[in-house]
Amino acid sequence: MIDTNSNYLMTINGQATASTSTKPVYNPATKQVIAEVPDCTNEQFEAAVASSRNAFSSWSATPIEERQAIVARLGDMLEEQAGEFMALLTREQGKPAAGAEWEVYGSAAWLKAIATQSLPEEVIEDNDERKVITRYTPLGVVGAIVPWNFPLLLAVWKIAPALVAGCTVVLKPSPYTPLCDLKFVELAQQILPPGVLNCISGGDDLGRWMTAHPDINKIAFTGSTETGRHVMSSAGEHVKRVTLELGGNDPAIVLPDVDAKAVAPKLFWAAFQNNAQFCNATKRLYIHESVYDEVRDALVEFINTEVKVGNGAKEDTDLGPIQNSMQYEKVQMYFADCKNNGHKFAVGGEIDTSAEGWFVPVTLVDNPAEDSRIVREEPFGPILPLLKWSDEADVIARANDTIYGLGASVWGEDLDAVQRIGSQIEAGTVWLNEVHQYSPFQAFGGHKQSGLGCENSLHGLMEYTNWQTITLNKKGANQS
Ligand code: NAD
Repeated sequence: MIDTNSNYLMTINGQATASTSTKPVYNPATKQVIAEVPDCTNEQFEAAVASSRNAFSSWSATPIEERQAIVARLGDMLEEQAGEFMALLTREQGKPAAGAEWEVYGSAAWLKAIATQSLPEEVIEDNDERKVITRYTPLGVVGAIVPWNFPLLLAVWKIAPALVAGCTVVLKPSPYTPLCDLKFVELAQQILPPGVLNCISGGDDLGRWMTAHPDINKIAFTGSTETGRHVMSSAGEHVKRVTLELGGNDPAIVLPDVDAKAVAPKLFWAAFQNNAQFCNATKRLYIHESVYDEVRDALVEFINTEVKVGNGAKEDTDLGPIQNSMQYEKVQMYFADCKNNGHKFAVGGEIDTSAEGWFVPVTLVDNPAEDSRIVREEPFGPILPLLKWSDEADVIARANDTIYGLGASVWGEDLDAVQRIGSQIEAGTVWLNEVHQYSPFQAFGGHKQSGLGCENSLHGLMEYTNWQTITLNKKGANQS
């Protein structure tokens, strides 16, 4: 057990490490500073990379069963302190208890599930004359860079497979939400050898140092598409491996045969889970014109009667604040753009800038033009455009007309139609009559500019390895 309420330090080579200066961390529900974290110096960054490099030879030689057992134990340890981590997550990220519970227990479950995975050698050919195998060897030092919307879970999605595969890790949390990650890595030191898992805090510069460092072999990155492009080009210098989990503009397509009242709560949560600060949030809701008014009105009623926006630390809160001032300003810009272009709001639309925290009302935009910014871009906040459709081929084309391809969902009673439409969507995950179902055994990643590579499943584990083919001529060196 560790103290999660104070003393937020980096972990470098197994040592709790302060720096010469600190950076503040805010509670987004109050805009108050709740902690100061070390601002990692370049020297400390170099020390973290060197310690991960040193630890790699013994960690990669540790039998996989031992590595799996340690990763599973990390899951148990997190679960034993789940309550403290949930409270800390709400304080730094803003999400209410239900979301914090999902993320903390989800992180523990992921650690334990990924710990059951392995990549055995594949025998390609084995006869009297030759043996050919393909095996999977660990890549080396992984730089894990995570965003602020699911700070703990998205760190675990990288740490767990990296450690199981035999890699060592330097973790860099978002400057906005470093606390849970610093504390999780501190907790992990109780059972991990020094250097296997480091955590450094600071600004975006740290990310740039990581992508450029010749001794980091892979960058596992989750964040915006814009930053992802920088990561990819910087990583190119040393032909570093990258996994990129980037932005999305997920469409949801609602068929004419839905029951508006029954489907409205599901559509609401598809779009507004985590206060819509979610790569996989539904960001464009295409409703068949024959049920458009009914579904819109059912959503408005649900929002007005069932959804409370407030401080996540309060029990009755359903949606918390926007996580940080930068994002708050970005979301404000989308509200202003809608107003300036004369779009109608079905609900919401007015941000109270005098509120105690960075709060934004749940807002539905009533059938704006397809080429408006609120439809084309990723607002990453609780403002959702509702759009009408009538022709199946046309709605599929509109759903696919984006640089993104992360997720999508289709909703209807006619399962043939649901599957037919779903199979034509260009996205990494297509949910049919459900949404946001994830699993450690299910590949997750983006098509198009939503990413490169994947996380979770054996495909995700493979991304922390080099495949290596070994051939043996059994006749020996001398015989022809
Ligand atoms: P961001 O791109 O601003 O930051 C992500 C991380 O990258 C942070 O840790 C940041 O410090 C670091 N960073 C910033 N500049 C960097 C650089 N030049 N080189 C290396 N690292 C750098 O993203 P954000 O605002 O924290 O997160 C929101 C975005 O993340 C949204 O676009 C969202 O869709 C996306 N996201 C994607 C997924 C997914 O799995 N596809 C999941 C969650 C969030």
